[in-house]
Amino acid sequence: MKSLSSLSNYLSIFFLAAYFPFIQAETLNTNSGISFSVIQTAESSGTLEALIVDEGSFFNVRKLVHNAILVKHPKGDFLWDSGIGREIEDQMADFSFIEKQLFSIENIKPARDQLDDAGYSADELKFIIPSHMHWDHASGLEDFNGVPVLVQENSLKEAMAGKPPGFIASQYDSPEINWQTLTLNDINYEGFDKSLDIFADGSSVLVDLSGHTHGHLGLFLNLKNGKRYLFIGDTTWAVLGVEKNKSRPGFLKWFLNVDTDYNKNAQVIDQLHKFQKGNSNVVIVPAHDELQQENLPHFPNFSQ
Ligand SMILES: [Zn+2]
Ligand SMILES: [Zn+2]
Repeated sequence: MKSLSSLSNYLSIFFLAAYFPFIQAETLNTNSGISFSVIQTAESSGTLEALIVDEGSFFNVRKLVHNAILVKHPKGDFLWDSGIGREIEDQMADFSFIEKQLFSIENIKPARDQLDDAGYSADELKFIIPSHMHWDHASGLEDFNGVPVLVQENSLKEAMAGKPPGFIASQYDSPEINWQTLTLNDINYEGFDKSLDIFADGSSVLVDLSGHTHGHLGLFLNLKNGKRYLFIGDTTWAVLGVEKNKSRPGFLKWFLNVDTDYNKNAQVIDQLHKFQKGNSNVVIVPAHDELQQENLPHFPNFSQ
């Protein structure tokens, strides 16, 4: 009997040891529970849908939005994009007359103002992750000086050498910006080659969507209630682009040069298109699609 008992002890230790990595992995992957809120910081004065996406309607006028997304996590909150910031008027002085008309925006309410008014302290923010550094995503960064800004190295490099209308250097020339280099792992997540599970709990996962700019990011938010979202920045401006597998209208690149690598971005759209077909439960959210975002919780309301 004694020997049987020690055998069973030995076996349980063996099994514990064998399963420990899995137990640990499971613990790490326990979604800690996140919620998010869309902070609408401005909207465009109106653009024909045909200018937003190839084969878009010439009769639909779209009012694209410029937003920051506040994500609440037990380990600390973060902002995805910063939206239009307090200094936008000065920043836009770098645009030509035509660019000013093309990018005309209204109903400007910077994220920092909305958070301050609601009594939300910026100290709660652990970091800010811009999907990319274009002017309409980086405009509010200096409103949060001191809060770490996480970007991939190639994204920051491109921004630092960037010119209007895509990039406005004065938006991120403050020495008080706390830059932190973000490095994604070579771990495939949902078919995307590179990823970073931000809190190591599966709740918030970054993937590389380079094409529109170098180091452009996408963000999966996986809520505890099973709802899933994929924020895709400017890969497409409207979800119609993903649904129909269409890029921005080709003629845009002749005078605006919107995409750093048009063809690479088209491949990302193709990948998203296929991903959406196989994962209809995931809500894909382009940064500026006002219709898609209408259904999302807006600050001060949060998702469950
Ligand atoms: Zn962009
Ligand atoms: Zn944008």
